[in-house]
Parts: sequence; structure tokens; C-alpha cells
Amino acid sequence: MEQTRLTPMMRQYLEIKERYRDAILFFRLGDFYEMFFEDAERAAKILDIALTARSRSSDTEVPLCGVPYHAASPYIGKLLEAGYKVAICEQVEDPKLAKGVVRREVVRVITPGTVTDGESLDPTSNNFLAAVTKGGAGYGLAVADVTTGEFRFTEIDGYEALAEELGRIQPAEIVHAAGATFVSKLRADFPAVHYSPIDDTAMAQQALERSGLADGAGLGAERGQGLEAAAAIVAYLEDNLPGAVKVLRAPQGYRAAQYVMLDETTRRNLELERTLQGERKGSLLWVLDRTLTPMGARRLRQWLLYPLLDERAIRLRLDGVEELLERYRERQELRAGLKRVQDLERLCGRIVSGTAGPRDLVAVKETLQALAPVRAPLEDFRAEMIASLAAELAAPPEAAELIERAIVDEPPAATRAGGFIRSGFHAELDELRALRRDAREWIARLEAEERKRTGIHSLKVRYNKVFGYYIEVSKPNLRLVPADYLRKQTLANGERYITPQLKEYEAKVLTSEEESLRLELSLFEELRQELASQRARLMQISQALATLDALAALAETAHAHHFVRPKIDSSYVLRVREARHPVVEAVLGRTSYVPNDCHLDPESAQILILTGPNMAGKSTYMRQLALIVLMAQMGSFVPAAEASIGLVDRVFTRIGAADSLARGESTFMVEMREMAHILRGVTPRSLVLLDEVGRGTSTFDGISIAWAVAEFLHDAPERPRTLFATHYHELTDLALSKERIKNFTFSVKEWKGEVIFLRTLVEGAANRSYGIQVARLAGLPAAVIERAKAILRTLEGAQRERTESPGLAPGPASAQMALFQVPRDSLRAELRQIDPARVTPLEAIQILHALVEKAKEEV
Ligand code: ADP
Ligand code: MG
Repeated sequence: MEQTRLTPMMRQYLEIKERYRDAILFFRLGDFYEMFFEDAERAAKILDIALTARSRSSDTEVPLCGVPYHAASPYIGKLLEAGYKVAICEQVEDPKLAKGVVRREVVRVITPGTVTDGESLDPTSNNFLAAVTKGGAGYGLAVADVTTGEFRFTEIDGYEALAEELGRIQPAEIVHAAGATFVSKLRADFPAVHYSPIDDTAMAQQALERSGLADGAGLGAERGQGLEAAAAIVAYLEDNLPGAVKVLRAPQGYRAAQYVMLDETTRRNLELERTLQGERKGSLLWVLDRTLTPMGARRLRQWLLYPLLDERAIRLRLDGVEELLERYRERQELRAGLKRVQDLERLCGRIVSGTAGPRDLVAVKETLQALAPVRAPLEDFRAEMIASLAAELAAPPEAAELIERAIVDEPPAATRAGGFIRSGFHAELDELRALRRDAREWIARLEAEERKRTGIHSLKVRYNKVFGYYIEVSKPNLRLVPADYLRKQTLANGERYITPQLKEYEAKVLTSEEESLRLELSLFEELRQELASQRARLMQISQALATLDALAALAETAHAHHFVRPKIDSSYVLRVREARHPVVEAVLGRTSYVPNDCHLDPESAQILILTGPNMAGKSTYMRQLALIVLMAQMGSFVPAAEASIGLVDRVFTRIGAADSLARGESTFMVEMREMAHILRGVTPRSLVLLDEVGRGTSTFDGISIAWAVAEFLHDAPERPRTLFATHYHELTDLALSKERIKNFTFSVKEWKGEVIFLRTLVEGAANRSYGIQVARLAGLPAAVIERAKAILRTLEGAQRERTESPGLAPGPASAQMALFQVPRDSLRAELRQIDPARVTPLEAIQILHALVEKAKEEV
């Protein structure tokens, strides 16, 4: 580039851009952020704004586009979404005082994990920045939310567990050491995440030391990988968003093993926060979340993703929910108070990082003023958790009063025009303002006096930015202008003048304006710092409010949906009476939902095989049990008449190919990989849900695998509690040889050739699949239905006679019948010789392989 021909400002631009080549540079010019060159070309397209050109010297043009600085955040949001980072370059000296080009510096780099702007963030969920480090066999993982200051870390053994935990956290961005080998795997598993390498991990440790965050108690023994990851986060923030380091709280160590383990697939299949289609409506959270504050919503979501394993901790939450449920009036009062509470957690973040505006302080005030009404109804609560939360809200800090005195009730959004400090708060400010107010009167008086003195009735005293105060006289009156007027500007139809008296006054007014704005800003800054110094207390209040809100929401939901308190114990038995699916019930209505019981017990009923036609309710039944367990262990009441839950530490689900084809990735391979993951991972406290395993392959393959899997789970020393839904009736024979396997089926009625689903679970095996009836319900043409029935009769007849080659029903379609023909083969003979009860899963696979090969030869 021919630097010599550039203007000094463009040279400055290029110097800065050189250091932020991987980001889109927002270059502050007056009231705009401008982008140049390739940045401009890219951004204009993404942001859908005009690309213009700026003359940089006489013969070349530079592509350019810009956005107003005060409305930049939606544009920044869009660029982040498109996968870019945005570097914000500000003027760091007063343009009026600058010699030459105004000094500019990049003050922060915005990445998906470091967004602090309210507009582009979902208030009901956290926006997490994660860091992953690797050492030896283990991984360190740290997570921070720069808007709330939440900061925690953990150590994780293998890649699989790391991926599971990351799936649960759903970070927006992952920081890692440059060149780390695990990153390519992460990229494949989490393609939507933004990856940010940092160069020097040794520097990271120093950054953590510098921040003082690791000085907190309780970190002594835990200086492992997890803390290294925490250090990486601090180092990354130091570079990109220095203000955020102050917002972070001391990092908390945690173990993923403290919570129910939910792998990615299970979380998705159970539709905890989103449906398989990605909607919030229809998810469990959609039913549960009746919180009234953003902190509460985030807390509840966290509870749902991290169900507890500790009986006592669960019971404490249940006690709280129970008392809030029983005490209707108090709950309504509490919730009325919570409605006035704002996002204190994120407000605190902005106060500490210095980005809070006057409206933020008013929000803090309103929240603190709501504490008394929130606390009042809780005074005599017995539940330990509620009592201690209420106590934390006692004696609210004086901050509210201070803000009340200092800031007007409805301040402007931006500080640049002033007017947010309340009059009467500061004497000097009041004086300066009086001067400004008086100016208007003074001008009016001057105008009247001058009109009288000169006899010019149309004479005006006015103000504009370029000339300041002036006197304007129209053309016909120019001859009346007195000698002491100094001409300043000639207009088409008049002249503008000034007088020494006017200039003198102007100087006084203008300085008073500047002074008063400066004073307002410094008073505001003082107040902000005062609040920042009370941060620990404000955070404590915000945490207490979040928890109260979450508990009250669960009580409210329990009330609305007739949930009951589950009994939690350390046994291995799961017993629910008249259980319902919380979401399906909410959609269908309470009266249309048919409740069912469930009893799982590793001693007697370890595995339930569920058969019944399509649409009978098998999948719904299995999911409802898992949801009830998770709800119970997060501290919620559950949709049942009675529930007693022997703690579950892992929930596994395998949902058959046909059920999740919508996701477009359900190949048989994926299904088997998930199956392998389950069989390797079961624990004595696991709950395993297998829905239509083996559907993605041929019938014989499918049955064999399903059979072998069921046996494996039965014989496993862990004896995981298992629900196994299948349309292979053959599997019901398992109960003959395996004592802890029980058969259940959904009863259906046949009426005039139609099938009616009763949705009631009864012990026993389904004898038919009613596939044709379901096909009729679905609207297949009558001719096809009739033909299918005829074929089915033949096939069933043939099976009874055990002929090797059933003669299919003769008819017009007989030309295609070859498709249905069961080949006369040695395979069947061979199959009959296999005793599935005696083969190991490995053998099953081998046999299967051999059979498949043979079958191929026979074609
Ligand atoms: P399956 O897995 O046996 O094919 P599903 O569990 O998918 O059947 O259920 C099919 C539909 O039946 C569900 O979408 C739901 O609307 C309804 N359903 C399931 N269980 C019940 C129930 N207990 N009461 C009322 N409707 C139910
Ligand atoms: Mg199903």
C-alpha cells in the first residue's frame, strides 16, 4: 500500500487494523463507527447498509460504511452471529484538544462469549465463555458469564465427559491454547461455537495471579487443570474486555459428578429446554418456568440442567416449594414483590465494569425498594431455605436511598445530554443549572430591550452551534441597525450581528453548560463507584432473589398443574402412581391425559419391555418417567398421584432412528454408537430408556441386537433400571428366561375394524401390532388397506404353519409380491439353532455379521 499518499487518519486506521486483522474494526469518527476496505465490504453485506466510498486522495477511493455509535449494538450482534469478532476503536482524547489526528485505541474486542450488551442477550439464559485446557489424561474446564460474574471450573477425565459437560453448558465461545489437539474434535461436535486460541498459557497463570481472583479461600488444594482453564479465561478477558475481569467473582470449583449426568442426546431427546424442533414451547422448561425475574429464570434453567444427587439438598428445595405451595396468599404477595425486581445480577456487572448508565441505577433502586415487599410475606416461614433467603434480604443497603436522592425518576438513556442528576442533590450543579435556565429569560429580555432601542420590531436574538448567540435583522430594517452592532454574517434577506455584551454572556452560559455536564458525570461516577464497592452485598441479594423466584415458580407450577411432592430416598426403586407427562398433559389438557403407574426395581422388575402398536403411548410413557425423575431431583413437584424416587445418577436415552429422522443424522451407525455409549456407561443408579432400538436396520438385525442388548442390561451387575419400548413382539419372550424382565403393553380396543387407543398400561404382551389400523387412521387409501390386510392374513397363516415359503395372497398385485417373499434359506435354519439367551453381545454381533454376509451371497 502506498502509505505516503494516505491521509494521517487513514494511516492511523491501517496501523490499528494491522493489529486486529481477525476482527471487524469499528473505527470511531464523530458520531459514527466507520468500517473501511474489506471490513466495509463484508459488513455492508451482512448488515444490509450502504457501502460508499471516501476520497482518500484525489485519485483513489476507499470503500466505507458506518453505523451510528449510539445504536451500534444490534449491528454488532449481527456480525457476531455471522461469526465475526468486532474490535471497538474509540477516540481516547478530546478532539478539541488534539494536536493533529485524534488519538484512537481499541478499547475492547467483542466476541460471542464476551457480549455484555443487553439487547443482543437472552435475559433468561446465561451467555457463557468457556476455556478448555488439557494435561495428561484430564481436561480442565472453566466457565464464565461476563455479565453476571459467575465463574466456575472443574476437572474432567475423558473427552466424552468433557463433551457432555460442554453440551450442558452450551458456551457461546471456547478459549483454548493455540494448536491444542482436541480442538478439531470440539469443532466437529460443537460447530456453532466460536473458537478463540490464546498463545501463551504461562502468561495466563500470571493474569490469574494479577487479578487476585484466585486468592479466595478454598482454592488451595485445587490448583489443577481446572484452575489453568480459569486462568485462560482471565488472560483472554484481560486482552479483549479488561472491564470484565473486575466483574468476575472468585472462581468456584465444582464436580460434574455432583449432578445427574445427562448426555447431549438425552438432554435433547427429553426436550428439557427445547423441543427436537428447537422450540421453547413444548419443552419441559416451558411448563416449569413461571419465574418473574431474569435471574430467577436463569436459576431455574440451571437447576433443570443440573439435577441434584444429594438427598438432603433436594429435600431442602422441596421443603421450600411445599411451604410456598401451601401458603397461597403469601406466595402471591411474594410474587407481586418479585414483579418489581429487575436483573440485579447483570446490573451489578455493568456497575462494576463501569458501563452502567443512569437508567441502570434507577433499576437497582427499584429492585432494592422491592425487597421489603418480597421479604414481608416470608417472615414466619418454617422451610429452612426460605427462612435463610429471607434473612439475606433483611436490612437492604442504603444504596436505594442514595440513588433516589441523586438520580431523577426517569433519566435519559444516554448521559451525553445530562439532566439525570436530581436538582437539590448538589448545590453547585443547581447554580449552574439556574444560570442556564436564566439564560432564556435574559435573551428574551435582551430581545425586547433591543427592539425598543432600535425600533426594529422583527429583531431576533437567537443561537446556533456555529456562531453562538447573534442578533438577526431583516433587510428592510438594516438602516436602523445601531453602530455598536458588529456584523457577523450576511444572509439573503438580512444580516446577523453580535455585540460585546452578547458575547460575554454567551461565554458564561456555555461554560456553565459544559461545567454542569462535567459535574453531572463526575457525580454519577462517584455514585457508581460507591455502588461498585457494595457489590458483594448486592450480589448476595441478587442470588437470594433468584433462588426465591425459582422456588416460588415451582410452587406456582405445582399448583397450576396439580403436581405432588415426590419422596426421595437412597433406594434403587422407582415407583410412581398415576403419572402423567407434564408437557403432553399441558398441551392436551388434564382430563384428556390417561395416567399410568410405573414400578422399577432392580430386584424384581429391573427391565420393563413395553409393546403395543404405534401411537399407543410407549414413547410418551418412557419420557414421562425420566422427566418425573429429573423434576424430582431438581427440587420440583411432579405430575403423579404419588412418586417415590430412589435416586438416579444418570439418565440414558436411545430413541430409535425412525423417531428422530427429522434431525437428518440418524443413521444406524449413530444409533449403535449411542447404544455402545450406554452399555459402557451404566451405573447401579442409572435409568435407561430404549425406544425402538434396532429399527434402523433389517428386522432380523434389529431383533437380534435389541434382544442382546436387553439381556446384557439384565445380566449386568449394575442392574440399571430400564424401560424398553419395542414393536418387536418377539422380545416379550425374554421374560420367559430372564427373571427381572417384565412385559407391559398398552391396551387397545378394536371396534368395527378400527383401533382405539386406551393409553392404559397393563401387564402382558401385545399380541398384534395394529399397523394396518394405524395406517388407516393415517389416511392410506382403502384399496391399499384392504390389500395389506389380505397379505397380512397370508403371512400370519404361513407363520403358524411354519412353512418356509408362505404363498402370498393371490391378487392383482402379485407381480410385486416377490418383494415380500421370505427367501427359502439356510439362514432360518441357522437362526433357529441360536439360543439368544446364551450368546454374549459380542457373539451376537459376530453371528449377525456372518448371517448378513451369507444373506448377501444368497441374493
Ligand atoms: P408410541 O411411542 O407408542 O408410538 P407415543 O408415545 O408417541 O406412542 O404416543 C402417541 C400420541 O399419543 C402422543 O403424541 C400423545 O399425544 C398421545 N398419548 C400418549 N400417551 C398418552 C396418554 N397417557 N394419555 C393421552 N394421550 C397420550
Ligand atoms: Mg414411539
